[in-house]
Amino acid sequence: MTEVRRQDSALRQARALDEADPLRGFRDRFLVPEGSDVIAYLDGNSLGRPIRAAADRMAAFVGGQWADRLIRGWTDEWMWWPETVGDRLGRAALGAGDGQVVIADSTTVMLYKLARAALGARPDRGEILLDTDNFPTDRYVLEGIAAELGLRLRWITTDPAAGITAEQVAEAVGPDTALAVFSHVAYRSGYLADAGTITATVHEAGGLVLWDLSHSAGSVPVRLDDWGVDFAVGCTYKYLCGGPGSPAFGYVNRRHHGRVRQPVWGWMGRQDPFTMGPGYRPADGVRGMVSGTPPILAMIPLISGIELLEEAGIDAVRDKSLRLTGFALDLADSWLAAEGVEVASPREPERRGGHITVRRPDFRELTDALWERGVIPDFRAPDGIRIGLAPLSTGFEELHRGMSVLAELAG
Ligand SMILES: *Cc1c(COP(=O)(O)O)cnc(C)c1O
Repeated sequence: MTEVRRQDSALRQARALDEADPLRGFRDRFLVPEGSDVIAYLDGNSLGRPIRAAADRMAAFVGGQWADRLIRGWTDEWMWWPETVGDRLGRAALGAGDGQVVIADSTTVMLYKLARAALGARPDRGEILLDTDNFPTDRYVLEGIAAELGLRLRWITTDPAAGITAEQVAEAVGPDTALAVFSHVAYRSGYLADAGTITATVHEAGGLVLWDLSHSAGSVPVRLDDWGVDFAVGCTYKYLCGGPGSPAFGYVNRRHHGRVRQPVWGWMGRQDPFTMGPGYRPADGVRGMVSGTPPILAMIPLISGIELLEEAGIDAVRDKSLRLTGFALDLADSWLAAEGVEVASPREPERRGGHITVRRPDFRELTDALWERGVIPDFRAPDGIRIGLAPLSTGFEELHRGMSVLAELAG
């Protein structure tokens, strides 16, 4: 009886939070199939739900620009989409002034290209600084680069329930640091790093910084220009709803334009590509980061994602994100703590990104049971269930529903 009463009051609270949510109307802008078996989607940080307008935009593109303009589409406008879509994303989500962002490649490939470009600008230094809880692909790519160029990796050991701190960076950075690479929001804990202070700390030692924004773009305000960040990279299929495998974005601060060079010298990053001339000469500005033909079709849903974010505004998204993670933490404390479940995420709002992780040794098996019940978070080894809360598509009652099934199965 007390159990039921407790759940009732949480449900009332969830409904009140939905009622008071200024972004609640945005939930109808997403495509949810009739009769869907999903009762709570808690993984919008891994693959954002499709936006209704994206389906129409895709169909209109195929039947219109593609079918009608054919090859002329390239010179009409497609050639410049990496920069034009990049600029829009930069303004809506990254705090980046025009001319510094391109859309291209996958995050993995873009990370490689930007890291190599950065290292080329610090040829007399031998160390790459990174942390043990960096996302796997980031760690592997940097291992590969270190092997390729004969550099050392300097690992900072981060707590998987927290993330990289400015103090740790200050202690590890030095005169041999060429480049530091960290995640702005940690993929497991959701820890939000103090990117401004960390960037300044690495700069004081003469190094360059590359931030991976995969879990912050579209969820947490980012101020690349204000922080003086050198390079940044990130996914567009997470909070930005670009769809499975949508291309990455890459940011190169204006002060490095014309001074750094990425390693994949393709025709689409050359000056005047259609002259097909001899010898590679990089295009001006951030365009030089492009290598091959831009993934036009794969940018179309992303444009809808950027539009939605422009309409909502990143600050309102962040406010709701904090309310969602706060509510998830409250429910975890009142329903799960007594069952031996631990919160493996920061609690302070200023260090919280858009998701939280809860853990218990049997959570791998429990994730399968949740999926069977239509509650979709994801599992992160060794024992974490990650509850991702995409503010534009997730409701408080939906979160309540998912957490109550989790509490039932964990009990
Ligand atoms: C999701 C994610 C990636 C994924 O990279 P892909 O090349 O798109 O597979 C990379 N880094 C971080 C931090 C991520 O969260």
